[in-house]
Amino acid sequence: MKLVEIIEGKAKILIPDPAQFSREGKFDPAWSPVFYNPRMTFNRDVSVIAVSIISPSSVLDAMSATGIRGIRYALESNVKDEIIFNDKNPISIEIISKNVKNNGLVNSKVVKSDANSLMHQVKVEYTDLDPFGSPAPFLFAGISSLRRRGYLGVTATDLSALEGKSKTSSIRKYGASGGKLSFSREAGLRVLLAKIAREAAVQEKGIKPLVSFYNDYYYRLFVRMDDGAKKADATLEKLGTLYECEACGYSFMSQDNCIKKCPYCSGNVRRFGPAWTGELNDQEFLDKMKERIPSFSYLPNIGRASKLIESLIAENKYELYYRTDVLSSKMKINMPTMEFMINCLGNAVRTHFDPRGFKTSRSISEVRECIKAG
Ligand code: SAM
Repeated sequence: MKLVEIIEGKAKILIPDPAQFSREGKFDPAWSPVFYNPRMTFNRDVSVIAVSIISPSSVLDAMSATGIRGIRYALESNVKDEIIFNDKNPISIEIISKNVKNNGLVNSKVVKSDANSLMHQVKVEYTDLDPFGSPAPFLFAGISSLRRRGYLGVTATDLSALEGKSKTSSIRKYGASGGKLSFSREAGLRVLLAKIAREAAVQEKGIKPLVSFYNDYYYRLFVRMDDGAKKADATLEKLGTLYECEACGYSFMSQDNCIKKCPYCSGNVRRFGPAWTGELNDQEFLDKMKERIPSFSYLPNIGRASKLIESLIAENKYELYYRTDVLSSKMKINMPTMEFMINCLGNAVRTHFDPRGFKTSRSISEVRECIKAG
């Protein structure tokens, strides 16, 4: 197999030559015997910044593929000691070993194992889960691979299950029932956090989301584990249900999972959950990420990463987002511009989840007044 070298961040990585695995001039990473997806570079860039704040003593890159993540953490994220690279694919193992050596990593181990089996055997401070599709089958073992007060990083690309579009997979993978709501991109992230919280609770751990976001076609998040049955119980109290009124569009979260009528207009509500109802991001962690931006100025994506972090900071004090297109269609009037809505509401911001979305602390009646005025 012909390998070519690419540079991402501070890492030089050998990957299978994309030209060999292109069909009709198109490259699909899934056709390659070892996975490397340039569309995930932004995910890795933001992750490198987040891990640099955690500065873990030990890391498990549980699904390494080429080893790019773990290698970047070693070179860019202040990892204090060991990195374990793992993949079940034997061709990956050959490539990871070459990449680890070429990048001069000394404190590292390359393992060929099933991720779940390995995660039940090791203890590290930070575990990274980056599977194809759903992380659900790996969450329990991922949490059990962590030392006290450890950290878990998770990528999920199974958006149709998480957002409630595919109802049967929502139930199978996440135990989430109901259906897709207009703020489905936020709903998906909250359903994923709820699943992590439940898996952690079984192991008498609570979770604290540090940074979590949607981009392109995936979710990426980092949570800290807080050990103890009381922390687990406190975490479970943050699980609830997401609601949206079919009539007026009012959206809310509640620990009560049996609400049938909208508290604003008494219309019928649609629901989805269980979902995380707490904060999606930790303000202090986001502030630290923002402070770190200048030291990552060598990354081509740093402008985008900085914009995302700014957006997460601005969004953090608000709850669910509304969509101008959905509300104006319910009210059967023309959609106002986003700029008009933000100015009219005064206390509102755009959301990174959706260009048609905004978050606000204003009431639904004030939101509807602004839609009308637009
Ligand atoms: N982390 C990589 C990156 O940033 O480029 C990409 C990982 S790729 C999406 C998923 C990898 O997980 C593949 O290399 C696949 O072989 C591996 N994998 C899938 N299921 C696994 C399992 N049960 N145990 C170990 N590795 C697994």
